[in-house]
Amino acid sequence: MLQQNVKRLDTAYKNFFEGRGFPKFKNRSNFTSFTYQMGVKVQGSKIYLPKLGWMRFHNSRVIPEGFTIKAATIRKRQNGWDVSIRIEDKSIPDYISKPLNEINSLLGCDLGITKLVHLSDSYQIENPRFSTNKKAKRTLKIRQRRVSKKVKGSNNRKKSAKRLGRLHKKIADKRSAYQWETANKIVSRKVDAIAVENLNVSGMLRRCKVKIDEKTGRFLKNGQSRKKGLNRSISDAGWSDLILKIEYLAVKQGKIVIKVNPKNSSQECRNCGHIDKSNRDGEKFICTHCGYHEHADIGAAKTIRDRAFEIVRGDSTKLAV
Ligand SMILES: [Zn+2]
Repeated sequence: MLQQNVKRLDTAYKNFFEGRGFPKFKNRSNFTSFTYQMGVKVQGSKIYLPKLGWMRFHNSRVIPEGFTIKAATIRKRQNGWDVSIRIEDKSIPDYISKPLNEINSLLGCDLGITKLVHLSDSYQIENPRFSTNKKAKRTLKIRQRRVSKKVKGSNNRKKSAKRLGRLHKKIADKRSAYQWETANKIVSRKVDAIAVENLNVSGMLRRCKVKIDEKTGRFLKNGQSRKKGLNRSISDAGWSDLILKIEYLAVKQGKIVIKVNPKNSSQECRNCGHIDKSNRDGEKFICTHCGYHEHADIGAAKTIRDRAFEIVRGDSTKLAV
């Protein structure tokens, strides 16, 4: 367990020497989790953690017969401490998925903000915007303000911080539940494989470059305040978490998830291949070259599906990295 922190420090220094920035100071409150690689035992509703001893816990899922505990991670959550246990049974073979050349049907998914998912079969899934809808935004703002108005280090501040944290947790739980529901809807369709975009969410979330007036040295508007709102919406949608859940459920059903390069997927004409930003007008797609038109996001989902088909057929040059 102590080794883990040394490992974290080692990674930080390795990153530093490979030119990825100086290690950051970490406050005591940054360390909210630790992992045991060995020595954890579970007996009914009691768990043994080395150096800490036996303690009671709520055993939410019984460890199935024949499995051994591989590792345990303890995390501090807003409503207490969670322990997640990694188990293994060597006698169970890995899930076998279909070989690529046996894929006959594919479902394309286009992830978005106004609608969470558009599917290539024209089905749409709503985005409830758990933390960026009007009501949630207001409550979050109020709770946040209650924290920042209080004296630093005071008990009152801690109390209101806890209330804010609980709200964040509630929102996260709701989002996660909705994502499972959505992933289930997608995976349970009668297809062999599911095609999703290979997203670079952290790239999308990056801040705008600082603009400085050369003459006066003053900061100019760079659109960051507008980007901030979009960034929040992207985080709220939780695309990468959703994809993870889709992958998890797909494996269980022997289905394959194919990740494709989403470049220009919403700007490319599906009729003539013409790529142009002005092909798209809000929800509508109208090709400036040939006049082909359809719903822009469903079109994008179809493009993603077709790109996955290209991969299946063996054109690996289009394979997303
Ligand atoms: Zn066209």
